[in-house]
Amino acid sequence: MRRRDWLGGLALVSVPGLVHARRTERIDVVVVGAGLAGLEAALQLQSQGAKVRVFEAGQRVGGRVRTIEAEGMRFETGATEIADSYARCQKRISEFGLTLKATGSPPARELTLCIDDELIDASQWAGAKANTLDEPWRAQLPPMLLGGLLQRHNPLATSGDWALDRHANLDISLYEFLRDKGTPANVLALADVGANYNALHSTSALDALRRDAMRKDASAAGGVKLLDGGSSRLPEAMAQRLGDQIALNSEVASIARLRRGYRIALADGRSVETRAVIVAVPCARTDAISLVDVEHVDSIAPLWRARPMTAISQVHLRPLAPFWMDDGLPATMWSDGALERVFAIRNATGEVERLLVWLNGKGAQRADNLGSELASFAKLELARVRPASRGKVEVLHTVQWSQVPGIGGAYAEVSPGQSRAVKAALNTLPAFASANRGLAFAGEHMVFDVPGIEAALASGERAAAGVAGVL
Ligand SMILES: Cc1cc2nc3c(=O)[nH]c(=O)nc-3n(C[C@H](O)[C@H](O)[C@H](O)COP(=O)(O)OP(=O)(O)OC[C@H]3O[C@@H](n4cnc5c(N)ncnc54)[C@H](O)[C@@H]3O)c2cc1C
Repeated sequence: MRRRDWLGGLALVSVPGLVHARRTERIDVVVVGAGLAGLEAALQLQSQGAKVRVFEAGQRVGGRVRTIEAEGMRFETGATEIADSYARCQKRISEFGLTLKATGSPPARELTLCIDDELIDASQWAGAKANTLDEPWRAQLPPMLLGGLLQRHNPLATSGDWALDRHANLDISLYEFLRDKGTPANVLALADVGANYNALHSTSALDALRRDAMRKDASAAGGVKLLDGGSSRLPEAMAQRLGDQIALNSEVASIARLRRGYRIALADGRSVETRAVIVAVPCARTDAISLVDVEHVDSIAPLWRARPMTAISQVHLRPLAPFWMDDGLPATMWSDGALERVFAIRNATGEVERLLVWLNGKGAQRADNLGSELASFAKLELARVRPASRGKVEVLHTVQWSQVPGIGGAYAEVSPGQSRAVKAALNTLPAFASANRGLAFAGEHMVFDVPGIEAALASGERAAAGVAGVL
């Protein structure tokens, strides 16, 4: 990178309270948010010689990547699976000397179904009385229905095809799309449970099909693994390399464009001036930062405003005894009731060490209404539908991602009818960048051809390249 002195030498900044902060120093780039997107952008620019400062609203780095340690166990509450196809992530993992391990997931058919409160071994599903589905759906396990439907009806050859004009008619709700393909209502009702969207009704089919195509691309390139020692090792290693350039507990409230550069104001009253800024916060939090004298904001805003985030809540339980031996059914459960999915997670020796209640969309929103009652509700509900568990589980941890400050949900969706606006916003990004030199957006929601962790890293890389020209 060719470095020009800015303002004839040093920009004056006043940052009292920053960890190890100098009171007067030059900052070339401020990165807002220390999730993977922000950390990647910061590392890329630091390695090119830029003076970077990362402001993170929370008390830790990693954002939606969070490994918890409790009761001698280590487990994930956020991103878990790293696909072999995640090229940038794999590169960072080997660069930091981190290693991957197998997922150890049990076979999908080792499952208890809980339909209308009736417990059924998945191997008996096809002939079960509770199974009201007609052929060809009858033999399929309920958790497989949505994947099968998407696979059967997805006309996108690659994820990039979502932006082709000929697919614009798919920008209806996923529910309507599948119904119009002849899917019966009882199949749709089961397919809506535990889907990676808030609801089939409230997500665009075009976006769901794009994500399905992305998953296909990824599985063609290999499987998925877990990071040894926990997913948080990755953002921690990235943060360590950035050293004292990360300021925690530093929520950015506004970004004002100056004649040259930007003034960043923090919620606690501190402010700094910088030549460039990268906003790497989740889409649900973007409008909380006021953008002053920034041009064409409304033209790119659909990238966050048209994109609700999927609600996900989890309750991590520890089994005090193997109650599934008592009822003789597999420990992992899938239910059309309030608990949706309960995953039995095994340790290295194959014992079930944790039960993870995982609620998506409507289920998570119901959980949000329960607030701090969620943990006891999960225990009581498990005991109600599966009496053998009564008194045999204790709560380790709960997380409600849509309630986590600074985050607001798990993944960015696209609302039905909004894909055209999102596409137009993407096409406007170059004009936005040239009107607001040195300002770029990053985050998982800014990238459409790779998912999750890899999208966050790709967005950070792209944003860093986008502002490098002004440094
Ligand atoms: C439950 C769950 C499971 C997942 N599973 C997977 C998986 O298996 N594989 C996969 O690839 N992906 C998975 N993901 C998705 C993946 O975690 C995210 O795509 C990725 O981590 C997003 O990174 P990001 O940097 O874009 O955003 P974030 O990680 O959300 O980081 C944004 C940061 O900005 C901060 N911030 C917000 N507002 C401000 C402000 N005003 N000032 C300063 N800082 C601010 C936030 O505190 C946060 O730290 C999962 C996510 C969840 C929640």
